[in-house]
Amino acid sequence: MLLGFSVRKKAFVKAHEAIRKKRVVKLSIDSENLELWLVYSPKRRRVNIVVDKDYCTCLSYYKKLLTEGKGWCYHIMAVSLAKKTGQYQEDKVDRKFFIKNICMRILYLQ
Ligand SMILES: [Zn+2]
Repeated sequence: MLLGFSVRKKAFVKAHEAIRKKRVVKLSIDSENLELWLVYSPKRRRVNIVVDKDYCTCLSYYKKLLTEGKGWCYHIMAVSLAKKTGQYQEDKVDRKFFIKNICMRILYLQ
């Protein structure tokens, strides 16, 4: 139980760090009528998409889903906190840029 708390506390600290370093981004894609919540990795080589409070594209989320029966990660915490506090970046890109620059980072191809 204590270990679980410590793990969550660590995730909470990481979530704050992501917000502070402006790695939480609300992304709009031109002509798609689509908004995505992204959390970039510390060096911005990778990016994960958070969908509401329930889903994230990262490996940690899936590991917890398999081991704890419920997926969660610091990305979900970061987006949730960012939405509450309004501390997030907004970016607008076109479809071509999204596929070329962001999808690749989601798929860990870079
Ligand atoms: Zn995640």
